[in-house]
Amino acid sequence: MASEIEIAAHTASRTTVFRFAANPRILVIDYASLREQGQTLNRIAAFFEKAGLPHDRVLDTAALNTAIAQAGETVESYYYGHDYGVRDLAQFFAAADRDGIRLGEDEERLRVLLHQEALADGARPGAVISLSQTSPDGVDAFTRRVILRHELSHGEFFTNPAYADFVRRFWADALSPDQRAAFRRFLGRLGYDPGIEELMLNEMQAFLMFTPDQRYFTPGWIGAGPAELAALRRRFLATMPTGWLRDTAGAPLPRHRRQRSVTTRTAWADRVAGRRARKAVRSAPRYGAAGSVSGRGCTNNGSCAAMATTRSVPGSVAVPS
Ligand SMILES: [Zn+2]
Repeated sequence: MASEIEIAAHTASRTTVFRFAANPRILVIDYASLREQGQTLNRIAAFFEKAGLPHDRVLDTAALNTAIAQAGETVESYYYGHDYGVRDLAQFFAAADRDGIRLGEDEERLRVLLHQEALADGARPGAVISLSQTSPDGVDAFTRRVILRHELSHGEFFTNPAYADFVRRFWADALSPDQRAAFRRFLGRLGYDPGIEELMLNEMQAFLMFTPDQRYFTPGWIGAGPAELAALRRRFLATMPTGWLRDTAGAPLPRHRRQRSVTTRTAWADRVAGRRARKAVRSAPRYGAAGSVSGRGCTNNGSCAAMATTRSVPGSVAVPS
């Protein structure tokens, strides 16, 4: 169990799994590298979110690699953070089995983790969100915090029906047709399938309210001026349900050690701005075999552990090989 501050500050050479303290239905996977994150979740992203790809069948590895290359991306950069409802993830694994798709080791590890965590049970199914440790491929310390805040809002959307209903009403009633179209264009430029309404409104709330940095979201990208954007945010805040996410809206990001430079652009920011950053494909070690679980950011109660090839912490959620 860990707070936003604890997760943001967490550093480790192995992938780590947290339950989010303010909403334990949200599982946060903090990947050791962008590569491991991508190898685990890119096929799922293609299945549920990416424009121009089939959403009724699972891509095999060759087709996935082609899709990533055609998007001008790499395994590492296809997405810098991920978010899914666990019932959707169960649907993905069922579809992969149905389609006879051979999944990779990382994907199978996620399947086991989901089974262990049993987040699909009960009336309020859980969510999985992810981010990666800092990387020269596009995730600096500040970007990591922005991604975490953004993805946590998705976690609440997937696990809190009252919040999801509020977002749907805001999308339908508070936004004008022009504003919805502008969001659709903006998200389409980022690779999201603009034809998936639920995806559009979920991303709208995340970018509008929980991506607090102008490198990643500015009013101009939805064709609005600062005053129009401020009015939209005020309207959202005025009527959104109370709870931890409302308390988070407008709050500063968790502190971080290095002061960011306002002139620094990250790869993620480049993509959001529609400028494809050139990135070298780097091979990262799998599962940080040389490292051990870092206590930083964890509560040391066994609920935070490395997602390693062997169970490493008693009572943890580490995934066996
Ligand atoms: Zn998002």
